Amino acid sequence: YVKDRGRAHFRFFREEMNHSFPNEALMESHLRRAIEMDELYIHYQPQVNLKTGQINSFEALLRWDNKTFGFVPPSQFIPIAEESGLILQLGDWVLEKVCHQLQEWQQKGYHHMRIAVNISPKQFKQETFSFYVESLLAQYQVSPEALEVEITESAMTNMRETLTVLNSLKKIGVVISIDDFGTGYSSLSYLKRYPIDIIKIDQSFIRGIETDEKNAAIAKTIIQLAQNLGMEVIAEGVEKLLQVDILKEANCHKAQGYYFSQPVSMNEVIARYFA
Ligand code: C2E
Ligand code: MG
Ligand code: MG
Ligand code: MG
Repeated sequence: YVKDRGRAHFRFFREEMNHSFPNEALMESHLRRAIEMDELYIHYQPQVNLKTGQINSFEALLRWDNKTFGFVPPSQFIPIAEESGLILQLGDWVLEKVCHQLQEWQQKGYHHMRIAVNISPKQFKQETFSFYVESLLAQYQVSPEALEVEITESAMTNMRETLTVLNSLKKIGVVISIDDFGTGYSSLSYLKRYPIDIIKIDQSFIRGIETDEKNAAIAKTIIQLAQNLGMEVIAEGVEKLLQVDILKEANCHKAQGYYFSQPVSMNEVIARYFA
């Protein structure tokens, strides 16, 4: 801060950041109470099968609407939750909500519908993680193939530990996907060791795919790689028809992005896709 400009600076800050927290400590204390204050909810983004146009899977994305400061995007609160350890509670909450939702769908006969849940590295590294998943599936009587866990490469810091958790999850029967593929620092050799079902191409490689030759080359290579390994592949952040065309041409299985739909409420999902 420049001292004599402090006042003006402060006002500017307040107006610009109207609906946002003045500091991280305050955000953390509000986030700590978010569940009991009923401020959290989940939006669902459809994943479109590029061959058939069908939708039978959705990604669950956490949303936080704070009573005082308004809507806070995950890019702001997930890192705070991660640092403070609150992500463990939030992550458990999301998993339970999703299992409850899946139970409702399965009871209505929608057995082929799947929901993918983002799992934070801290959550994944908990010794109890796979037991928690297993107990939720039992509690809500949900078949394991209906649940997908999205893990990032950043969660895979220890090979033995990762292998143990992933093998337990595989044994339970849940679907395992790698989120933001290609943005971590991990070696590709994990692809042959771990029981991975799905690779999600990070949106940074999809952006500009229609004009950027390098991104197009990377995206197509990841699609090939997944196919050669017998894995399914999903493109994230698809915003344009031209991108859809390129991905179809490359035989990418599924796509997710604003071109098809933003993440929406469960009511909207049901109205649109379960009609
Ligand atoms: P992610 O798992 O890679 O999720 C995809 C993000 O891309 C979502 O942002 C989604 O809204 C956004 N997106 C989807 N289609 C498009 C598109 O066409 N263009 C662009 N520009 N963006 C698109 P969101 O919901 O803000 O979430 C951001 C990140 O926060 C997620 O990235 C994930 O890492 C994290 N996150 C969200 N919910 C949870 C959760 O329940 N648990 C954990 N641990 N992390 C979560
Ligand atoms: Mg994700
Ligand atoms: Mg992603
Ligand atoms: Mg992510």
